[in-house]
Amino acid sequence: MRQRGEGASVLVVSSVTNVEYLTGFTGDSSVLVLTDHRQIVVSDGRFEEQLGRECPDLERHIRPRGQPLAAGVAGVVAGLGAPAAAFEAAHLTVADYETLRDAAPSIEWRASRGWVEGLRRIKDGTEIAKIRGSAAIAEAAFQTLLSRLRIDGGMTEKSLADDLDALMRSAGATSAAFPTIVAAGANAALPHARPSRHVRIDGAIAVLFDWGAVAQSYRSDLTRMIVTAKFTPQFEQVYRSVLVAQDRAISAVRPGCTAHEIDGVARRVLEDAGYGDRFTHGLGHGIGLEIHESPFLGRDPDVELEPGMVLTVEPGVYIPGWGGVRIEDDVLVTENGAEVLTRLPKDLESVRLVR
Ligand code: ZN
Ligand code: ZN
Repeated sequence: MRQRGEGASVLVVSSVTNVEYLTGFTGDSSVLVLTDHRQIVVSDGRFEEQLGRECPDLERHIRPRGQPLAAGVAGVVAGLGAPAAAFEAAHLTVADYETLRDAAPSIEWRASRGWVEGLRRIKDGTEIAKIRGSAAIAEAAFQTLLSRLRIDGGMTEKSLADDLDALMRSAGATSAAFPTIVAAGANAALPHARPSRHVRIDGAIAVLFDWGAVAQSYRSDLTRMIVTAKFTPQFEQVYRSVLVAQDRAISAVRPGCTAHEIDGVARRVLEDAGYGDRFTHGLGHGIGLEIHESPFLGRDPDVELEPGMVLTVEPGVYIPGWGGVRIEDDVLVTENGAEVLTRLPKDLESVRLVR
């Protein structure tokens, strides 16, 4: 319990994602109060039936109309009689914290960080199966999109992004995992480019797609490039470097190696190729119920990889005014190495789109 709640015997879980992870409840506006022996969800009348269906064994406190959520939570926690309770510092607003404190002043409220996120880092078999399903949907949708693509100027970044989203939904996705990126030509130099309805896919040298699906609440995340004209020598050189960086990093993924080491493997390849200062973000991130979750390759230097983690490996090179190249796959850390969950081709020949 010490880890869970900074020494308190009660933890108030207010992150909607963390509540879903612990209970299976997919609604929102609900908070979970967790003790060693009890799980009580504080919710409202809109979710009563859904709670009964999705998590019938959970204790429920349906707050009366007009009672703020934080006040309902404070009442439930006070009723437990514990001297101290922890809350998720990263997910509770200051206003809600003040409500908790004022409504239950005899309780010592302690800030807790990352306990549920730590559990979420390691995926069990059911979660891995859901991520595989989500990746398969994203890949099938992309292949359908490419088979229909016509380079006649009638398509724009925005229309391709919309088509890809629709194809993922018709393949079984709840939605896109994040706003789909389609970035043509120089726009690909922006790692988080927004698709424009004014950029036509005709004269563009290269188009970057970064997309993923949500299926059964779990997310996938891929990036692929296509080229609608002849490769320029520069594109070919950058693409090969990024591909080698990604291959080497994926080969280095194994339990016990740190997130920092994996990031360093890719970074060294790009530094040696002269693009070190053009790789402007971390190598990747965990995926699961959220699109960006722990571990972060690059930002969490001390995190050791463990079997069951699922992370993206996505080196990129971005050159202002020219464009960018990123290649991204989803990788499962296994007992003795890694399994790449996404299988779309990415060799240089698969990038060339000849119609
Ligand atoms: Zn991505
Ligand atoms: Zn990503």
